[in-house]
Amino acid sequence: MKPLVVGNWKMHGTQSEASALAREIRKGLKNINDVDVVLAPPFTCLGAVTRVLKGSAIGLAAQNVHWEEEGAFTGEISPKMLRALGCRFVIVGHSERRRLFQESDQAVAEKTLASLRAGLRPILCVGETSEERKKELTTRVFARQLRTALKGVGKSAIEKIEIAYEPVWAIGTGQNATPRQISRAHRWIQEVLQGLFGRKGAQKCRILYGGSVRPENAAELARVPEVSGLLVGGASLKATTFLSIVRSFRPHMGSGK
Ligand code: PEP
Repeated sequence: MKPLVVGNWKMHGTQSEASALAREIRKGLKNINDVDVVLAPPFTCLGAVTRVLKGSAIGLAAQNVHWEEEGAFTGEISPKMLRALGCRFVIVGHSERRRLFQESDQAVAEKTLASLRAGLRPILCVGETSEERKKELTTRVFARQLRTALKGVGKSAIEKIEIAYEPVWAIGTGQNATPRQISRAHRWIQEVLQGLFGRKGAQKCRILYGGSVRPENAAELARVPEVSGLLVGGASLKATTFLSIVRSFRPHMGSGK
């Protein structure tokens, strides 16, 4: 399974800034084809970035989606609209959406299903808060988030989904989870996936880690055997730092990743 590195640009960049960043990343990835790379610019920049990425292997993702195809949902964007713009991926259930915009597990489930129906690959984010970790609720949180979000997803569809483990306390804080914490969390996630989709199905699903990934810690995180990719926020806003994170997977390409 090829590792996957996703750059989540969040609410940063005008169209011209986003195009320039995408252009620089595309140039820097010229000789790298053993790592999958996906960029997730804001909605307003998807059109501009899709033009820059045309003809390259770099994937385009939206950061959010609504579950209906169309209708009276002011301010929302549908999976069909994203496909038409050239998106192949969409981030669903990011903790900022859950926490700041009260997105429920049920809403995340609807978004996941609607994305799959439209042919988008959901990048489904799960993760515990520091409070939940302190109370030793981490495994319960994963189980709840995953079981709700993946309810109704057919056995064969699991290979069309990426899971991102993003501990809420590690996002944008400069405090990444340790390799040991990540390894344990990814194994728990694997266990839940196995329960839902069987061993073979679960093995087809990439589990990414996200939370304060930087060029300085990326190589150590990429070496964790259970990590099949990284979801990068802040450090994806500069081509040099993002490219250095992508390259961190390359020394281990022989290890079955
Ligand atoms: C994220 O928002 O998904 C993220 C991982 O952010 P950061 O890398 O800035 O912690």
